[in-house]
Amino acid sequence: MKEYDVIVIGCGASGSIASIFASKKYQKILIIDKNSKPLKKLLVTGNGRCNLTNINVNSGFYNQDIDSYLSKFPVSKTLNFFKSIGLETYFDEEGRVYPITNSAKSVVDVLYNAMNKNKIEVTLDEEVIDILQKDNKYLIKTTKNEYFSQKVIIASGGKTLIDIISKFNIKIRKCSPSLVSLKTESTKNLSGTRLSPVVVKAINSQGQEKQECGEILFKDSGISGICIFNISTIFSRINEFKGSLCLDLLPNLSHEELYNLLIERKKLDVKVNKFFEGLFVNSIAYEILNKLKINENKSSLKLTDNELKSMIEIIKNFKFNVLDCYDNNQVFSGGVKLSELTENLEAKNTKGLYFCGEICDVDGECGGFNLQWAWTSGFIVGNNI
Ligand SMILES: Cc1cc2nc3c(=O)[nH]c(=O)nc-3n(C[C@H](O)[C@H](O)[C@H](O)COP(=O)(O)OP(=O)(O)OC[C@H]3O[C@@H](n4cnc5c(N)ncnc54)[C@H](O)[C@@H]3O)c2cc1C
Repeated sequence: MKEYDVIVIGCGASGSIASIFASKKYQKILIIDKNSKPLKKLLVTGNGRCNLTNINVNSGFYNQDIDSYLSKFPVSKTLNFFKSIGLETYFDEEGRVYPITNSAKSVVDVLYNAMNKNKIEVTLDEEVIDILQKDNKYLIKTTKNEYFSQKVIIASGGKTLIDIISKFNIKIRKCSPSLVSLKTESTKNLSGTRLSPVVVKAINSQGQEKQECGEILFKDSGISGICIFNISTIFSRINEFKGSLCLDLLPNLSHEELYNLLIERKKLDVKVNKFFEGLFVNSIAYEILNKLKINENKSSLKLTDNELKSMIEIIKNFKFNVLDCYDNNQVFSGGVKLSELTENLEAKNTKGLYFCGEICDVDGECGGFNLQWAWTSGFIVGNNI
């Protein structure tokens, strides 16, 4: 049976960086991954461009205060690290950092080259199915082999391995999909409609509120878009996708400005069913009319003040009930509680067992924040193991 100094479970973002830093101290490191390719998920991040971090990172973008971790490996160190392994980067107006090639493959390539250079062994198509403690060592059972290791880094992402981790009496916050499209009552008539900018206000079943501004895209029975992904955290973090969304369809106009605009538009002298043409795309105009319940053949000239006010109410508070989420989540909220781990992310009650990346109970918003946690936590584990 092969024996290693360190075994890393998961050749993703956090596992790769953890192994690179661990290799400065340890000779025999093995990464095990069930995928057929290393760093496979990284390829699809940022729509294939890999938004690897964000220059504005701080705890406010996460589900909890992680400043003490971020200070150990902040964005500046992340960028220096990537530069040191050959990756050139740039950031956009929202602080999102991308490889200069705009290709996630470049991030994968430089990480994989660094792993090879540091003689880190990688075995693929091999799933870890159990971890046992034996004689002060760990026995890792996979679908193909059994290995011994002094130390183990669990960097398996998402919610896999949760059952195995629970066996070590390590407390886990229930995992829930996050950064995900939301299911609502049918939006079939709006399906395919893209709106930007829209302000979305969400309220979850505990009465907590969250507001985001950006682009949204209607699906058959739900809403998607980065703005909705960020909004979804208010539901995922309490493990319940129930509540409401309230859309301001014209956020750049105050109530008064919108009122004045509608007064102006009355003079168009068109039937009510044509009143919103030129202001909204047809699908939205149709939905507003549906909610209005004004005789559609009435002339705009005859619209009353109350009718204009009800139009404003609908445009500024376009409501949907949240019923569930889709399964296109970018991350999971939940995982191993940080209170179960030392500041170096080693299990307090199980020496030699470390955690990094998404398996920890840290989830961020869209914009490079989740990968920054992967780099930060991977560094902390790799550097301190
Ligand atoms: C479509 C999409 C786009 C995204 N875009 C961005 C973005 O632009 N910016 C950003 O910051 N974040 C983005 N994310 C989130 C980001 O990808 C994750 O936060 C990050 O990959 C987590 O890193 P990790 O190392 O914890 O896990 P992963 O990168 O998921 O790696 C875990 C690895 O463990 C392996 N594994 C799991 N279980 C086992 C097992 N039992 N045995 C062996 N191997 C196992 C998996 O195969 C996987 O390779 C995106 C996610 C998705 C899905």
